Amino acid sequence: MTLPHTADMLIIGGGVMGASTLYHLAAHGQKKVILLEKEEFFGQGASGRCAGGVRYQFATEINIKLSLESLPMLERFKTEIGQDVDYRKCGYLFVLTNEQDVTAFKRNAALQNKLGVDTEWVTGDEVRERLPSMHFEDGLGGSFGPNDGLVDPNSVVMGYINAASKLGAKAFSNIEVTGIKVEHGKVSGVETNQGFVSAPVVVNAAGPWAGLVGRMAGVEIPIVPVRRQMFTTTPLPEIPSDFPFVLDFAQSLYFHREGNGLLIGMSNHDEKPGFDQNVDEDFELVNLEAAIQRLPLVEKAGMVSHWAGLYEVTPDAHPIFGGTPVEGFHLLAGFSGHGFMHGPVAGKLMTEFILDGKFRTLDVSALDLARFEEGRQIQEYNVV
Ligand SMILES: Cc1cc2nc3c(=O)[nH]c(=O)nc-3n(C[C@H](O)[C@H](O)[C@H](O)COP(=O)(O)OP(=O)(O)OC[C@H]3O[C@@H](n4cnc5c(N)ncnc54)[C@H](O)[C@@H]3O)c2cc1C
Repeated sequence: MTLPHTADMLIIGGGVMGASTLYHLAAHGQKKVILLEKEEFFGQGASGRCAGGVRYQFATEINIKLSLESLPMLERFKTEIGQDVDYRKCGYLFVLTNEQDVTAFKRNAALQNKLGVDTEWVTGDEVRERLPSMHFEDGLGGSFGPNDGLVDPNSVVMGYINAASKLGAKAFSNIEVTGIKVEHGKVSGVETNQGFVSAPVVVNAAGPWAGLVGRMAGVEIPIVPVRRQMFTTTPLPEIPSDFPFVLDFAQSLYFHREGNGLLIGMSNHDEKPGFDQNVDEDFELVNLEAAIQRLPLVEKAGMVSHWAGLYEVTPDAHPIFGGTPVEGFHLLAGFSGHGFMHGPVAGKLMTEFILDGKFRTLDVSALDLARFEEGRQIQEYNVV
């Protein structure tokens, strides 16, 4: 496939946001829409390195509503997009070990229930009953979402890319955008390692790199890359098949089944922003020790793989949707470490914004870029 010199719409970034937007534009009859990805394969950025967790349990109404739209799209993915994405409803169990988190999560569970999410409150004793192999003597309680679970990220990204290609849209890998041309306040195209492509509409879906891409157009975007890492273990037959996605919230430590073993991760809250995607082996030891304290079985297991990726963090841990001061230059990024699950509805919303000038499925206009300058941020509490 040769790179065209012109396109009606051009998307920068082949992660879940770019792929979903490409598909939804194509499904709305847009044929001259192209996606450019700098890596050899699609979905090798944050999307391909994520834990695959999907949940309704958020602290703000807008994030819960994004989940209420997006997770059913993942459930229907096979029928609508033609790709099995292996949705496993193992449930998310947030375990809380301090009073402040208990208060916040009780409030959040009430908000989730009000919006129609079936989050259940569990006592400390119930946590210990549900997780007999884990040490949660200090567990004060927790919240459990039975419809939360896991989905395969690569299947979602490739499902959208393949479905979009069948509809006539084109996705190119190994094409890096190196510059953005702006004339009289309007975007007119992008410079790449394979030449110039003119386009009156350009979507910045560059995830953790969205700030760099924004600067190419002279737009300041407050998204910083922050490294997060995890590892998987050899089989642990003692872990039951219904083991939930367990989160020790105060430590940002989590466990979920991966094959017959576990995937274990922990967020380093001292991590400085940066683009390094190598595993920090010192912190990996901290993670391993914390994991063994909670689940001594881990000591018996070997490590199968480990990797790091980048969260795309905004000051209020909410994404940015919509336009920028440069006409035609749009932004869909900054999902702050929980965006994989919102990718389906996000691409749909971006398509509505580009084609109709408004978000129809769900009003996310409050999540615009201008909110940071205008002091309209809303903070998410349930960040892992
Ligand atoms: C360790 C980890 C665990 C996570 N766990 C979860 C989870 O359990 N659940 C959840 O919902 N979310 C999770 N996330 C967050 C989730 O992965 C992201 O929110 C989501 O994948 C962001 O998608 P994206 O398309 O915006 O970014 P990306 O997937 O990073 O895609 C952006 C793409 O843009 C490309 N690009 C950048 N610059 C250029 C350029 N100049 N030219 C061309 N291409 C360019 C990149 O190569 C990249 O492929 C996790 C993230 C990490 C790192």
